[in-house]
Amino acid sequence: MQSIPLGRVAGIPVSANWSLVLLLGLLGWQLDQTIFPSADPGLSPTAYLAMGAIAAVAFALSILLHEFGHALVARREGMTIHSITLWLFGGVARFEGFFPSGAAEIRIALAGPAVSLILGFGLFGIAHIAGLPLATETVVWWLAMINIILGVFNMLPALPLDGGRTLRGIAWAITGSLRRATTIAMHVSRIIAILVIASGIVLAVSLGDVLGGVWLAFIGVFILQAATIEAQINSTPPTVDNRRIRDVMHPFTASVTLTTRIDTIAAPLAAAAPGTAYPVIADGEVQGLLLREVVLALPPERQHTASAADLMIRRPELTVITPDEPLGAAQRAIAHDRWGRALVVDDGILVGIVGLTDLGGRPVAV
Ligand SMILES: [Zn+2]
Repeated sequence: MQSIPLGRVAGIPVSANWSLVLLLGLLGWQLDQTIFPSADPGLSPTAYLAMGAIAAVAFALSILLHEFGHALVARREGMTIHSITLWLFGGVARFEGFFPSGAAEIRIALAGPAVSLILGFGLFGIAHIAGLPLATETVVWWLAMINIILGVFNMLPALPLDGGRTLRGIAWAITGSLRRATTIAMHVSRIIAILVIASGIVLAVSLGDVLGGVWLAFIGVFILQAATIEAQINSTPPTVDNRRIRDVMHPFTASVTLTTRIDTIAAPLAAAAPGTAYPVIADGEVQGLLLREVVLALPPERQHTASAADLMIRRPELTVITPDEPLGAAQRAIAHDRWGRALVVDDGILVGIVGLTDLGGRPVAV
């Protein structure tokens, strides 16, 4: 299992990757064992443990707020947010589709670090309020620092960090080409990644900070890999497709009843195109769908005993859409359908069928 679901916030599913649990454990332990005792000597071990645990959880919440900064601005830009996953280096907000423009990408990218920096400086202000208990002040001070670090680190101009996205947004706005902007951002990201790795090696070998050096080199390797993946995903924006389901759906060429024996239709179905399906009709209503691949998978000796009712996909299990639905929205519904198809129903009347391949441009006969 990759991630642990945490529930929904503002309608967006939030989950945590296992790496975050590991990071929070390590972080809490380091805070409890070294950072808080040296910042605030003389407290009880229980106090340090509580401070470490509270700080680690508050750090996870800070990352979540950072991601919500991105997600809420993205929503205002008209994008759909699929999910937010918290993990080792912060969080990842997954968007559906592509950024509408360079300017939109810049605004979405800057929203996260803006939240972190506002949070950081705000917490600094709180830490300076006179009369706070010493332990509280130390935790708030540390949280302020970590949020500022989070904001600043994310502004490194390397994909997939926010600074890299900002850089690509700027290059996109200037060149007018997402592809060229991604290439530019990817080259810069690789240089940054190599510099980060090199400084990790220097830190470990020359300055003797092995743990810090390995950590830095690890971040560099991560950027190097992630930037390459990012470039592959985002280099080609889709062509805008304004078509609707009625433009790509197929009317049914034949229908069967619940009692139609499979051997009577096996031959025409075998000769039909891949993707062919027959609606199963009873009392003027669609009861299910008989798929060509399901019929062909039935051993020939069973064809004369099986009926359409035995093999059909029942109505409640089918995805149903309307002919006015835009292709993009329907694509998601059909992608989640077990059979990769949807019945097209207009005002309660079956008008056709659409398959995932229709949306990809390859015609499918039904
Ligand atoms: Zn971010």
